[in-house]
Amino acid sequence: MSPTHVTNDKADRIEVTYACPANHQFVMIFAAGITAPATWDCPRCGKLAQLDASDQVTVTDTTATDIAKSHWDMLLERRSMAELSDMLSERASNLRS
Ligand SMILES: [Zn+2]
Repeated sequence: MSPTHVTNDKADRIEVTYACPANHQFVMIFAAGITAPATWDCPRCGKLAQLDASDQVTVTDTTATDIAKSHWDMLLERRSMAELSDMLSERASNLRS
């Protein structure tokens, strides 16, 4: 994946839930690949909240990319590139109509 293709819309990010001792929960968003800090100051009471690792969510699921890629690979095995580009332009014109 080339960095030039990364846009703000598509950049992977993770949502990390923290829980503070006063039972406040809040979510911080980090770029994927960044290791979320184990603790964060609670924005409500200022106490040190602990990372709730079980609640960590990767917003852009990388497995989806893997699935799409293997579908693409399967298509390539079955069809020539010429057939594929015909198919894609057909689909594109369907989308426009
Ligand atoms: Zn708190």
